[in-house]
Amino acid sequence: MRKILLPLLFLAPMLLVGKSKRPNILFMFTDDHSPLAISAYGSKINKTPHMDRIAREGMRFDNCLVTNSICGPSRAVILTGKYSHINGFLTNGNRFDGEQQNFAKILQKVGYQTAMIGKWHLKTQPTGFHYSEVLIGQGPYYNPPMLKNGVRTQHTGYTTEIVTDLALDWLKEGREKDKPFLLMYQHKAPHRNWQPGPKHLNMYDDVTIPEPDSLFDDYAGRGTAARTQRMEIKRDLSANDLKLNSPRNLNPQQRKLWDAAYGPKNAAFKKANPQGDDLIRWKYQRYIKDYLRCVAAVDDNIGRVLDYLDETGLAKNTIVVYSSDQGWFLGENGWFDKRWFYEYSLRMPLLARWPGVIKPGSTNADMVSNVDFAPTFLEAAGAADKIPADFQGHSFVSLMKGKTPDDWRKSFYYHYYEFPGAHSVRRHYGVRSDTHKLIRFYGIDEWELYDLKKDPTERTSRYGDPAYKEITTKLKKELDRLQKELKVPEDTRPLKKPSRKKKPS
Ligand code: CA
Repeated sequence: MRKILLPLLFLAPMLLVGKSKRPNILFMFTDDHSPLAISAYGSKINKTPHMDRIAREGMRFDNCLVTNSICGPSRAVILTGKYSHINGFLTNGNRFDGEQQNFAKILQKVGYQTAMIGKWHLKTQPTGFHYSEVLIGQGPYYNPPMLKNGVRTQHTGYTTEIVTDLALDWLKEGREKDKPFLLMYQHKAPHRNWQPGPKHLNMYDDVTIPEPDSLFDDYAGRGTAARTQRMEIKRDLSANDLKLNSPRNLNPQQRKLWDAAYGPKNAAFKKANPQGDDLIRWKYQRYIKDYLRCVAAVDDNIGRVLDYLDETGLAKNTIVVYSSDQGWFLGENGWFDKRWFYEYSLRMPLLARWPGVIKPGSTNADMVSNVDFAPTFLEAAGAADKIPADFQGHSFVSLMKGKTPDDWRKSFYYHYYEFPGAHSVRRHYGVRSDTHKLIRFYGIDEWELYDLKKDPTERTSRYGDPAYKEITTKLKKELDRLQKELKVPEDTRPLKKPSRKKKPS
């Protein structure tokens, strides 16, 4: 008896100490934030001092790729650690099956307290969270109704600030202080239609934002898909997007501030009456400034949360991750929106700070993905042994520690499904290596091939060029291998058609 009890007695306090040291996980997430609008990634158009702080004190991932570049599907992949064709959320028209396994449920089982605050966007209610307060669908920029543990509440104010207030309230009062936590703090911003908050309505008024080189792209080097989309700044931004109308759901005080800012701007526009390329340039400026104003509010609010972690000492044992659900076109190729396997919409921002584990100011260039987030969070929480065998992603904790395993992925599989749908981007899948990318638009049976070293912005497809025959064959083989490994159904049409025509998201 003594022989058994003694080791147990010694072990018990050690287990407790071990548990209390497990890191908290604070997942800061936005919607549609291009890494090229973060100064830590070398933005030429804005400054994000608080996001930069996470990079400076942690690691910047330069090659984080989304498996399916659209809002709901990216979120479902993050939760489940599985590609869209396995988790069933292929397009924004689908409903997420919350009964399936997700990493938050597993963290609950190993003793984490879990909370989800802000944009959820998966139609069904969150599962795996002790506490949730989420926007309904896309959620508005102002005065959002939300669902607090499933019950409707109404807030007044700017959504980016409200989501932050709620996250801070939970950290202060909702948290059980003897347990490690997972907090998913998720913004609506800077999603379309880019309504700035009251503090940023006049930011950038006196500057001209540099235009991307490809603003006037004619898609000559690409195929049918690029020429038949509906996401061009020159044609597809609405009067609401361009703030030629004021938003409908403002209260009198908010409307006064809004009209004081946009009234004079719109009067100047009408007076100047730009035409042709000048009109496109004006639209770009209006679009990009509003987008960056929304980003500025997010950055300020992230600063508030980082300050709180410092003030309370939580910062020392909290992993802080900043990411966004996909990449985004900031006028490159004349586009706004995402969806494509092309680089601008493929690349997600990913910044991570983990005191004592991640070397401050470090960078990583390996291919990681949103499908890797779930196993990574589990390993970080000391629950590597609980990572389900059917998760398709791989933990990148070793990359955070500065060591890349020899067998880390050298190629990446992508698949987009939402067609017909908003912005008319054709269904496609493909494979990307560090040097090349092969894409198949399977509904129209067109292939594209890009040489990412010589043509990093993918202006000219090399598919069918004899000089690229060998690499094309190699990539087709790799595509086939990845589709088999990832269990992509041979019939690659969506499992379910979108239930109804969706608003752009
Ligand atoms: Ca999104």
